[in-house]
Amino acid sequence: MKLESRSPTGPIDTAWSRAKFDMKLVNPANKRKYKVIVVGSGLAGGSTAATLAELGYDVACFCFQDSPRRAHSIAAQGGINAAKNYQNDGDSVYRLFYDTVKGGDFRSRESNVHRLSEVSVDIIDQCAAMGVPFAREYGGTLANRSFGGAQVSRTFYARGQTGQQLLLGVYSALERQIGAGKVKMFPRTELLDVVVENGRATGIVVRDLVTGTITSHSAHAVVLATGGYGNAFFLSTNAKGCNVTATYRAYKKGAGFANPCFTQIHPTCIPVSGDYQSKLTLMSESLRNDGRVWVPKNAADAAKKPGDIADDARDYYLERKYPAFGNLSPRDIASRAAKEQCDDGRGVGPGGRGVYLDFRDAIQREGEDKIAEKYGNLFEMYERITGEDPYKVPMRIYPAVHYTMGGLWVDYNLQTTIPGLFCVGEANFSDHGANRLGASALMQGLADGYFIISYTLGNYLAGVDAKSLANPQGAAFKTSETEVKAKLDKLLAIRGKRSVDSFHKELGHTMWEDCGMARSRESLERAIAKITALREEFWANVTVQGTNDSFNQSLEKAGRVADFLEFSELLCKDALVREESCGGHFRVEHQVDGEAKRDDASFCHVAVWEYQGEGNAPARHIEPLVFDNVHLATRSYK
Ligand SMILES: Cc1cc2nc3c(=O)[nH]c(=O)nc-3n(C[C@H](O)[C@H](O)[C@H](O)COP(=O)(O)OP(=O)(O)OC[C@H]3O[C@@H](n4cnc5c(N)ncnc54)[C@H](O)[C@@H]3O)c2cc1C
Repeated sequence: MKLESRSPTGPIDTAWSRAKFDMKLVNPANKRKYKVIVVGSGLAGGSTAATLAELGYDVACFCFQDSPRRAHSIAAQGGINAAKNYQNDGDSVYRLFYDTVKGGDFRSRESNVHRLSEVSVDIIDQCAAMGVPFAREYGGTLANRSFGGAQVSRTFYARGQTGQQLLLGVYSALERQIGAGKVKMFPRTELLDVVVENGRATGIVVRDLVTGTITSHSAHAVVLATGGYGNAFFLSTNAKGCNVTATYRAYKKGAGFANPCFTQIHPTCIPVSGDYQSKLTLMSESLRNDGRVWVPKNAADAAKKPGDIADDARDYYLERKYPAFGNLSPRDIASRAAKEQCDDGRGVGPGGRGVYLDFRDAIQREGEDKIAEKYGNLFEMYERITGEDPYKVPMRIYPAVHYTMGGLWVDYNLQTTIPGLFCVGEANFSDHGANRLGASALMQGLADGYFIISYTLGNYLAGVDAKSLANPQGAAFKTSETEVKAKLDKLLAIRGKRSVDSFHKELGHTMWEDCGMARSRESLERAIAKITALREEFWANVTVQGTNDSFNQSLEKAGRVADFLEFSELLCKDALVREESCGGHFRVEHQVDGEAKRDDASFCHVAVWEYQGEGNAPARHIEPLVFDNVHLATRSYK
């Protein structure tokens, strides 16, 4: 596998402008002759499809929900970063670039991150022009708040519903193109295979989730925008439908999978409350602007009511340990610190797996109305779920799986190792290295979709003969359809004794316990052994009711869980080989005073896995990372 990053050489601040100028263009009159498939219609996919159609390409867009409006992006709460420096507090493109490289613990590609920071400012203009109702100051200018890992306020927001509002903007742009006949939308349709002919992606095979019909679709290029794989852990803040199927099946067709072990655990989620749960709820990081995180100083106080614990008996441990960033320390650091307090017996709530997020001081300072104005919907959501009123009692929070920095490897042009197959948004290994900063996922998805892919895909298509559209009735598509059908039939034929969910839950438990916030050689080897055994049992004993020719959610889930059962092993293998701690990847063998200890000499690279066929160990390749602008240093938030 050849990993050519195609990063421009020369000064980084002009790299993207030079790259854009060097890219080949497709004549406007020829654009309609090119067909592009976009899989996914969240912020990344929806913006990609709308932008390409606006340019004149012939676009087909697929999603498994009944409407693009239901993509998981809708769940994003807190905000979207941009280096506008409206606050005049010292922000700049360079600072956002610096914060992101450092926040990712020096495991991202400099050229991509700089480009992301540059286009961040355009995203806000684009969205505001589309009518996204960002919060505003009294004088009408757009408001900002702070997110973790930054000392400036650069996060634009729409109350606690930023993702929803941004998605409505994307959706209206997409609908406009659907109405104009430039995008053909395929809702409730799931990608089950990527077709590769003569080394190029030529189309996809999908299943209509209502009728069960399997069909093939060809295109000159395919863009995957299928989101993250956090649900490998079963319990996560992700929507239940989030899965790895599209990217994992692309991996099996030859696309390199980068850094699968880089998963993000978010520090502020509502703690697990029982065995029956299938989903965890995020309390947005924006709450850490005003909420103070604490646990009792003495384990003996952990069972007391928070109001009965005096101020001097409270440990505001983030403020104590990281005075420079305090409650806005980055997610990986804040999550590990919470675990440390709970492991020390000072956790609160059921099972001692919780810490307080307390608004008492902010309410005293600003008044309840002001706090309600900023976070009202989040407080209401918390009260509905826990039955506790956060205006009166501190919230209880605990870390949970939230985001995946790993994904399909892409070069600077967002192209995977398969020519013609591109990947955008959370689905690619992206710009976040080993830890994503809050409010940077929405930024990346929209940067990819609105401002980057339009150039890079055009550059690719300019070299493709418009007459070369593959025949969806051709042999490669038929073979793929046969394989897809055979897999579905196999799942239906097992008729075993265990539900799909019970396998998913067991997998998630293993992943969380052995490959979660802390990982060790021993735990990872144990996880791999358990996953292998579980996968074998799945294929012998799972029960999938119903048929293949109708709406069958059990069958959909079974296919996704089957992929998780293979992919999770890859994730653990990646974690096992990476003998260092960085960002969200914490190997207990590699730490100094409880902080992550990187090994730049051996691991300053992207790890890219190549599928080698069933039963064979995947091959590990590396893309070395070079830091010419932000110099490698131990990350400190103290
Ligand atoms: C609770 C929560 C809050 C968050 N808050 C923030 C925030 O405040 N700021 C921030 O920057 N980030 C936030 N994030 C992260 C951010 O929301 C996501 O990273 C981002 O929205 C992902 O967008 P996407 O377009 O890449 O993928 P998604 O929105 O997940 O969209 C994936 C699309 O792919 C489709 N798809 C997937 N698989 C298939 C398949 N096999 N076949 C067909 N279609 C498929 C789906 O139907 C969907 O349309 C939050 C995440 C969560 C979970």
